[in-house]
Amino acid sequence: MQIIAQVLFLVALVAGIGFFIRNIRRLVRNIKLGKEVDRTDNKGERFAKMARIAFGQSKMVKKPVSGFLHVIVYVGFVIINIEVLEIIIDGLFGTHRILSFMGGFYDVLIASFEVLALLVLIGVIVFWIRRNLLNIYRFLSRELKGWPKNDANYILYFEMVLMVLFLVMNATDYQLQLNGAPHYASEAGITGAFPISQFLLPIFDGMSNATLIIIERAAWWLHILGILFFLNYLYYSKHLHILLAFPNVYFSKLRPQGEMNNLQSVTDEVKLMMDPDADPFAAPAEEEEGAEPEKFGASDVFDLNQVQLLNSYTCTECGRCTAECPANQTGKKLSPRKIMMDTRDRVEEVGEIINTKGKYEDNGKQLLDDFILREELWACTTCNACVEACPVGIDPLSIILDMRRYLVMEESAAPNELAIAMTNIENNGAPWPYNQQDRLNWAKEN
Ligand code: SF4
Ligand code: SF4
Repeated sequence: MQIIAQVLFLVALVAGIGFFIRNIRRLVRNIKLGKEVDRTDNKGERFAKMARIAFGQSKMVKKPVSGFLHVIVYVGFVIINIEVLEIIIDGLFGTHRILSFMGGFYDVLIASFEVLALLVLIGVIVFWIRRNLLNIYRFLSRELKGWPKNDANYILYFEMVLMVLFLVMNATDYQLQLNGAPHYASEAGITGAFPISQFLLPIFDGMSNATLIIIERAAWWLHILGILFFLNYLYYSKHLHILLAFPNVYFSKLRPQGEMNNLQSVTDEVKLMMDPDADPFAAPAEEEEGAEPEKFGASDVFDLNQVQLLNSYTCTECGRCTAECPANQTGKKLSPRKIMMDTRDRVEEVGEIINTKGKYEDNGKQLLDDFILREELWACTTCNACVEACPVGIDPLSIILDMRRYLVMEESAAPNELAIAMTNIENNGAPWPYNQQDRLNWAKEN
């Protein structure tokens, strides 16, 4: 019986980890659909930023209540999962609490896991109430209807169940140790300390050892299977940020936020125009014969860079960006959170085509118009508030700018006000409709 359980555990472990690796490979492949971008500079500064923002959650705590709760859930969940190491060893070798050889330190570990499990449980319940019962504007937006809302709730339920299973597993284990049940009881006395789960003991009062073992084993199995399921659910959920927040912050922009990047293709064109000796018909050195000329801006995910696609997968859908966005606040259609969600949806759509057909085949859709509307793009004031607010270093503005560049430079489809200003710049060297020689008219006496 024991050996069957060990074999089943091994199968579940290999399947769970195998599926996870498959998903990670798909994720990396999808991100690589974007253009390469070099963010390997200033490694020390990047590590420091990652430690501060992703690990230290420095931006999360700018909203103290949700930030504090998030830190508890995050720290608790990560630390409690150290217990998984012991569960895996016990599951593979049929041992009982293998790490108990650490003696008093083990007791401290188990006791702190229990306290953290209770705090995580409380934190998750408060999150559920905030999300479902309090009318917080950023959780009511249209882009959060349907799957995004359900996804957020599923994870909360999931964490609640995992924490309860953990405590039930410990409580029944403790009771079995007290009863001196074979395999559970140790000659060295009680292994582990159970400051929280001991309060559950009255529930199991009067139960036989056989019943307790069934409950303990059920909680143990469901706990570890739940964790393996959670690991694989991540890919389909906004909770991918648990893993991606770290590389995302590491590869985020270090330069001042207000500094826009110049398109190399435009820089080359301008240099060509300003160089009297340049041969306008000479192809750039890196342009191969017959190659498509480089596109200006972005109309689809292939035109975005890999960090922008990584951004889309990292988005936690928290809506802090949208809550700070002046365009959204004044009733415009723009929501930077939706920009990120749409980008991820489109990459996923492309990825799904590759999964089924082996390569991307045009399905007649693109990011522009089919996911993100022009009205949304032009509502942006380029204020950078969304970038500043994002707790995981996402830059929705960079996607908006690249898509606007496409509209202006590839489609000449700027809004009328902008088109007039640009024509004026072209003709008069200034955005106003006056001749250059009339510029100082305002200073003339009447
Ligand atoms: S940069 Fe654009 S999208 Fe971001 S907050 Fe400002 S207006 Fe909103
Ligand atoms: S872009 Fe950042 S702030 Fe906006 S919803 Fe995503 S994680 Fe939250």
